Amino acid sequence: MWLCRAENPKQFEGRGIQLIKGVAGKQNIYFEREEKGVKVDELPLNYQAMTFPHQSRTRAYVKIQDGCNNFCTYCIIPYLRGRSRSRAIDDIIKEVSELGDDIKEIVIVGINLSDFKVNGEKGLINLLEKLDKFGKRIRLSSMEDGIIDEDFMYRLSKLENFCPQFHMSLQSGCDTVLKRMNRHYTSEQFAESVKIIRKYFPKAGVTTDVIVGFPNETEEEFEKTRKFIEQVRFSALHIFQYSHREGTVASRMTDVAPDIKKKRAKILEDLNKKCERDFISQNDMLSVLIEEYEKGYWIGHSKNFIKCYIKGDYKVGDIVNVRIEKQYLDGVLVEKY
Ligand code: SF4
Repeated sequence: MWLCRAENPKQFEGRGIQLIKGVAGKQNIYFEREEKGVKVDELPLNYQAMTFPHQSRTRAYVKIQDGCNNFCTYCIIPYLRGRSRSRAIDDIIKEVSELGDDIKEIVIVGINLSDFKVNGEKGLINLLEKLDKFGKRIRLSSMEDGIIDEDFMYRLSKLENFCPQFHMSLQSGCDTVLKRMNRHYTSEQFAESVKIIRKYFPKAGVTTDVIVGFPNETEEEFEKTRKFIEQVRFSALHIFQYSHREGTVASRMTDVAPDIKKKRAKILEDLNKKCERDFISQNDMLSVLIEEYEKGYWIGHSKNFIKCYIKGDYKVGDIVNVRIEKQYLDGVLVEKY
């Protein structure tokens, strides 16, 4: 077996795995049998150019960063993908400048966007200010808390094309669990970040990830998370039942029984339905990018990522100002105004 770019490679032995390799340069994969033992390459230290495969007719995904230094106790990514490294800003701008006119929206992606750096300094907002000039909608994929402050949000609010949708991973609303997870914020700090977001973008979509049944999570700890979610009023939750990742610190902690995880997930799923309904009801007028046509409806997303269904004479790529008629399927039915 040839193992490449992975720390603690023993965890993969005996599983029939032939190769583990970073995604950069995956097009050049070739197999090489070692006579003896396992070959392990060093984890990459610098950003390696790669094309990001996902692109729809209207939306391009632009990768700007890879790796992570945070070492959350449940996460294997820093061991597999290496430490945080940022793509050169000129390279990103070149990629965006070469996108065709059909692309109306760019989604900025990375493992830890908040850690994007230019010359060793935090640089995400500088990059977004440069990208705004291309006139395409700009959306951020998931972010870690720690980047949201008054200066960042003020500058973001001055961009013409920014889509106010913030996906910030909470994971738990209980400080003792956050500590066991080695997350670098408290629930209070997280709530403060959401407050600053809403100060500048009152109708921002604020979505999050939550892990239920993290090792040793008690009923009281789960209840703190549930209450926190209610207070913050997220627009949607992505709920995960914890499962061990071998080689991580959390995999050596005591697991919570599966039926308890399931029960807690169900409680949050019900809460999520309420969160989604409440968020939609706070909206009225939207600007929608038409992305596809299906079963008699044109379908697209608003800037704050509400899925919209509209009838009429449109085409993919149109941006339409609409008014919400009613909630419909997994989004809203809208009409032009
Ligand atoms: S969960 Fe996210 S922030 Fe934490 S180590 Fe993994 S990639 Fe980094």
